[in-house]
Order: sequence, then C-alpha cells, then structure tokens
Amino acid sequence: MKITNKIHALKHTFFIPVNPKLKLERFVYSFVIFGKNNVYLVDSGVADSENTIQNYIQKNGYSINNIKALILTHSHPDHIGSAKNIKEKSGCQVLAHEGEKEWIENIEKQFSDRPVPGFKSFISKSVKIDRLVKRNDHIKLEEDIALKVIHTPGHSKGSISLLIENKGVLICADCLLLPGNLPIYEDAVEAIHSINKLKEIKNIKWLLSSWDDPSSGNQISINFNQSLSYFKAIHKSIVDIEKAEELSPIDLYKQVIEKMGLPSVAINPLVAKSFQSNIVNLDNPVLK
Ligand SMILES: [Zn+2]
Repeated sequence: MKITNKIHALKHTFFIPVNPKLKLERFVYSFVIFGKNNVYLVDSGVADSENTIQNYIQKNGYSINNIKALILTHSHPDHIGSAKNIKEKSGCQVLAHEGEKEWIENIEKQFSDRPVPGFKSFISKSVKIDRLVKRNDHIKLEEDIALKVIHTPGHSKGSISLLIENKGVLICADCLLLPGNLPIYEDAVEAIHSINKLKEIKNIKWLLSSWDDPSSGNQISINFNQSLSYFKAIHKSIVDIEKAEELSPIDLYKQVIEKMGLPSVAINPLVAKSFQSNIVNLDNPVLK
C-alpha cells in the first residue's frame, strides 16, 4: 500500500501454530522507503519475507542491491525474521536500538528467554547490528529523507518508533494495543508513557502500526486513545480480581481473559507475562 509516493507499507501474512491442529492467521507490516536510487526498509517481516520484499521493490523499479539500510524497530521474530537474508543478499546496514541488540544478534537467547509459539518458523538466523541508534537520533538516509528515532519502550525495552517529519509519517511498530487482540507488553507503565509521548507529536498525517492497517486523519487520535483505554481496562480488570497478586501467572491470565472476553484458544505465556507487569504496578496512577 502506498502511503506517499516514496513510503509504502507491505503486508506479510503468516500463521501462528496454536496446537498441532490449529493455526491462526496473522499479519505484520514492514515498511519500504524508496529514495533517489536506493531503498530503505523498516523491519523485515517473518522468515522468507525477503522474497515478497524483493518482488515488491523490483515492481517499483529497484533491485535488492539497492537496499542500503534495514532499520529494526525491535527484536521480535515477526520484525527481524528475514533480516539476515536481506542483509546477505543486499549488503545493507542493519540498525537497531541497543536494548534489542542481544535478542537480534542471538536468536537462541531470545528463544530461551521468550519462547513464542512458532518462533523457529518465524525466524531462522541471528543478524549482526551495524549501527546502534538511540532516542532523538536523526537517521539521515538521503538529502530529503530522515528518520527521527523516538525511544518507545513498553512493548520491549528497546522498541523504537520512527518519525519522517517532512512527510508527517509516524511508524510506531508494536507500541499500540489493538482492542480485542491479545495484549503483549513487557512494561505496562512504560508502554503508556510511550503512547503519550507519540500522542504529543504534531502534524501526523499517517500512523503506521505493524499489526494494524495504516491510519490517517481523525483515526490516528482514536487509535491512540483506544489503545490507552485498553491498557487501563486490562489494569482495572486485574485490580478488580481479589488478591490478584497471589495468583499464579497462568491463573491470573485465565481470569483476566475470561473477564475481558478475550480469545482463549490456548494459554499464551507472553500475555500471562504481560499481566505480571501490572501486578508489580497495581497502585501506579499511570495505569488508572
Ligand atoms: Zn513485537
């Protein structure tokens, strides 16, 4: 999908194995920025997405060799799945925040720390970061293309959002929660601070989330507010559970999922872990 002539959103469909008989269809977006002669990518989709990316940029008159940089918003497998193959094919530089370095450069470590269902099918290889970025960096890609790095922890500690100021385009990756979707975050308080930080940015014409279709106009503030409300509704349901802090993570997970009417196809350890960040912040006013 064309966001502007030069900034495109590319949808990658994949399947999450829930159990041997059930696979859930999902999608994740990566983003392509076409420069004068070069191409820049933000995230790389799941494993094997390099073919989709290659075909897409060829259709637009560029080749894989034109990819000069791949900026990873964070280390999760659906964002870095084909990073190594893209780097090998194109020789591009890989950029990411220091907080994500360990899991990007060592996927075995990520898998043992965060065993997502289907992990090994989403990503096959670690990739080395060539340049670490930090908050407020300006990644100057070309004369008229620069990405401002906004550190937006919460979903993960080194998650970044990227602002293309002169086009009014904000890439927020996995910062926002989608109401009704299973919520995945490491730190609920940080996540809310990050959304509030993004909300303050003026003159955003397009908001690009990885797990949602691109939004524009009034829908942008609606999305921010819905996400904040969802975080707070989750927290309220946890606060309302009697002695929630004494429950095991799995028992808490089951009660919250039931209370909120969320899909309960299988126990998701990542969501159970997310709720534990509410438990250690039960009285935090940011979450109320
Ligand atoms: Zn993620």
